[in-house]
Parts: sequence; structure tokens; C-alpha cells
Amino acid sequence: MIASIGELLVEFICRDKDSRNLVPADYSGPYPSGAPGIFIDQVARIAGKALFVGAVGEDAFGRVIYDRLLASGVDMRLVDIIPDLPTGTAHVAYNSDGSRHFVFNIAASAAARLPHGHKIYAAFYVAEVRLLHVSGSALGSQSCRDEIMMLAAMAEDSEYRVSIDPNIRPELMKDSIYLQCVQQLITGATYVLPSDADADLLWPGQTFERWASPLIAAGARAVVLKRGDRGCIGMTATETLELPAHPVTVIDPTGAGDCFCATFVALMEAGHDFRFALTHANAAGALAVQSLGPMEGNCGLPAIQAFLKGQ
Ligand code: ATP
Ligand code: MG
Repeated sequence: MIASIGELLVEFICRDKDSRNLVPADYSGPYPSGAPGIFIDQVARIAGKALFVGAVGEDAFGRVIYDRLLASGVDMRLVDIIPDLPTGTAHVAYNSDGSRHFVFNIAASAAARLPHGHKIYAAFYVAEVRLLHVSGSALGSQSCRDEIMMLAAMAEDSEYRVSIDPNIRPELMKDSIYLQCVQQLITGATYVLPSDADADLLWPGQTFERWASPLIAAGARAVVLKRGDRGCIGMTATETLELPAHPVTVIDPTGAGDCFCATFVALMEAGHDFRFALTHANAAGALAVQSLGPMEGNCGLPAIQAFLKGQ
């Protein structure tokens, strides 16, 4: 069983470029979202055994995301429905150069609530969780951060290991502890899966080999750099593999990274080799950007294999 933890959101996507969420514009949504949610939806599609830890409000938006994950087959025993708080939201607006602006409503919503740590830990044991995936976006609120860091620390004496996608959102980076926590999680992680933007922040000016090699030497099973329309590059103790991106028409790039991470981690944990996992993750990312909505491009192994055959 693979678990993911943190914010469940609905997302609204601005239809106009360069509005920066500052002027009246058409938005499309609500789409089920939240990086940890996108990740777990895709794990469920690839591997079937997926468990989520988080919360939604008792409102329509909460139903959008809760019902979606349930329908995908995610184990929802650790997802609380909170009557007094709204479900979290994100508004994303793209610029012509491909950069994005987010407005998040997380801290004052159900998205920043987690069940009690002891309840999570006990349920992990019962559900036989073997990997806990953390997206750095879940570390923006103090309460979530404390609980996630505690679960990561407890992993050392438990049956599960930790996977980290730094997924650093400047909009959520309220203090220096945020980055410190990301760095701490990277140090002990089995899989380290940053994007180009994350790597520029964490290891400025360093090549992939320079910062990835010490992580592998320290015990990471795989380190992968996600490079958007430049594909990806990954390293294990025995090989380094660089894959170009598949040529596709981009409709909505948000969520591709989470879909990529989920595909890679689920295939590695299912016993596939590194090349197989990276090749299929690279294809899953290319499929993800072709649909509007952060998890609407998620898909199972047969669709990924059909796509690879056609390339
Ligand atoms: P996000 O945080 O928005 O989910 P990310 O920055 O973490 O995204 P990206 O590098 O944008 O992750 O995308 C992950 C992977 O998806 C890439 O490594 C690549 O394999 C695939 N991908 C992303 N964008 C494209 C694209 N334009 N064309 C083809 N493949 C893409
Ligand atoms: Mg990302």
C-alpha cells in the first residue's frame, strides 16, 4: 500500500493568459486537485493499493474531490469530512511564457487538517502501508508540517519508507522552516523527485549529477529530475537514464509532475525495473498535460502502453 498525505483541493483554471488572477476572467472548474490528491489518484490507477490522509469540508467542493478519489479506488479511511470548514481551493492563472500564479485557500480550510498522528500511524500499520509520499506543497501549514515530519521520523522504526517531491510553491513558502523541512525529508527519502524549478531552489547552480550522487550514496533508491517539456533524468546506484519529452500538445501542465511521480513510484514499488518505471512515468506525464484539469489526464498502465506504442 502506498499512502499520500496533505491538501485536497478543488481547482479553478483561468481561461485567459496573463490575467495573474488579478482581473475578472473566465475560470473553468471545480476540478478535483491538490498535489497529494493527484498523486494518489494516479497510484490507484497504476497499482490499485492507495491510501489517502487528509480532509475535506462538508460542502459541494468536498464531494467533488472525495467522490473522485473514492471512484478511483483510493482507500479513504483517513480522510475526514469536517462540517465547520470549507474545502480547500486553488485558482491558477497561466502567463504566456508558461509560468503560473496560484491563489491557494489552504490554511483556513479543511485542506490543512489531518487526522491525529496516532490514528494515522495505527491505520498505516493495519493497512500495511509501505511507502509514504510527501509533496512539499503539504508543508505550507504549520499543523500539517508538524504531523508529516513526525510521520517521516517514525518511518525509521516502521515498515514504511518515505518518498518526496519537493514541489515547492513560492505562494506557500511562508517561512524558512518550510525549506528546512523539505531538505530534511530529502535526506532520508527512498525516492527524491524534484522538478527543474525545485532543483534551482535547492541546489542552485549545481548539475544533476552533482546533487543527485550524494543522495544515492546516502541510500536513496532513485533520484529523478522532472524537466517539463525537456523530459526527465534519473539516477540509481547502477545507472543514469535521460529521456526526452514526448512531443504533445499542452493543454494544462499542472499536475503532470504528480502524475509522473505516482507512476514512477507505483511501478518501482510493484517490482518493475528503473528503466520501465521511468519510461512509463515520462509517458504518463506527457499524457497528463493533454487534458484540462490537474488530474483529468491521469490514466492506467494500458493507456500508457498504448501511447508508448504509438510513439
Ligand atoms: P507540477 O508540479 O505542476 O505537477 P512539475 O513541475 O513537478 O509539475 P513537470 O516537469 O512539469 O513536473 O512534468 C513532469 C513530467 O511530465 C516531465 O518530466 C515530463 O516527463 C512530462 N511532461 C511535462 N510537461 C511536458 C510537455 N510539455 N511535453 C511532454 N511531456 C511533458
Ligand atoms: Mg511539481
